[in-house]
Amino acid sequence: MTDNTAYTGRFAPTPSGPLHFGSLVTAVGSYLDARSQQGRWLLRMEDVDTPRVQTGSADDILSTLEAFDLHWDGPVLYQSQRFEAYEAILQQLTEQGLLYACRCSRRQLIEEKVRQGPLGLIYPGHCRNRNLDPAGHSLRLRIDGPAVIEFEDRHCGPRRMDLAAEVGDVVLKRVDGIYAYHLAVVVDDAFQGVSDIVRGADLLDVSFVHRYLASQLNQPLPRYLHLPLVYAEPGRKLSKQTGAQALDRSRAGVLLFDALEFLGQTPPRDLRGAAPRELLDWGVEHWQPGHLPTAALTT
Ligand code: GLU
Ligand code: ZN
Repeated sequence: MTDNTAYTGRFAPTPSGPLHFGSLVTAVGSYLDARSQQGRWLLRMEDVDTPRVQTGSADDILSTLEAFDLHWDGPVLYQSQRFEAYEAILQQLTEQGLLYACRCSRRQLIEEKVRQGPLGLIYPGHCRNRNLDPAGHSLRLRIDGPAVIEFEDRHCGPRRMDLAAEVGDVVLKRVDGIYAYHLAVVVDDAFQGVSDIVRGADLLDVSFVHRYLASQLNQPLPRYLHLPLVYAEPGRKLSKQTGAQALDRSRAGVLLFDALEFLGQTPPRDLRGAAPRELLDWGVEHWQPGHLPTAALTT
């Protein structure tokens, strides 16, 4: 197999519990998209939000992926090892005049009845010109309006959002010192040379923030493919909170078959329960992102 250096994909689980069927669908979708284009497929542990991280979960995720024959390229990148890189980028943003300290608490913003947007409370910019000391405060990215971000999702089609109007200045470092997902994901996707992001549709709207931040940092912008979500019940994504069960490794060949079907692919019936390698090889050979279902996309 010749490597396609133009395609680098990744799977980026948060080690807050075992992988479930929804995570398997995301892992399989990103794996098949990468491998069907002879691309690289990297693994990143998003263990930046330490209070959410569960001891042993990262290792459990690695051995589960191996049991499903989902082999990644190169070393695993742990976000908990990347704090210096995040700090350097925050410094760069400060020098660009794009970062400021904020003392507003969430409760205060709720009491003030600030508007809600697709990503939550729209910060009204109270601290923009207060020149607060970064120590002991959260740090926000300044998003001057209008900041219209447009991109074409390979599955969801053309997307557009005015970030200044609908999102507002986002937090990149929390008051408790934790680096925000938006910061870590953008810094690490560039660091790992990711060209293609394939992940669940619950992250479609945050892509606008990521693209904005990446362009402020002069980083190349990746392509996106957001996959339909697995629902526990209508309107509720399958997750630990909605009672998702850990993947049963002894049923890998059945679960992989079901994941392929969920992704709109049509493996032959007699492959259900086959060896994981056989199912993944079939998937790589027959991967048709155009067959992904659209109905399940409505959140
Ligand atoms: N860590 C995120 C999650 O588990 C995924 C981040 C991403 O793919 O950008 O939901
Ligand atoms: Zn503030």
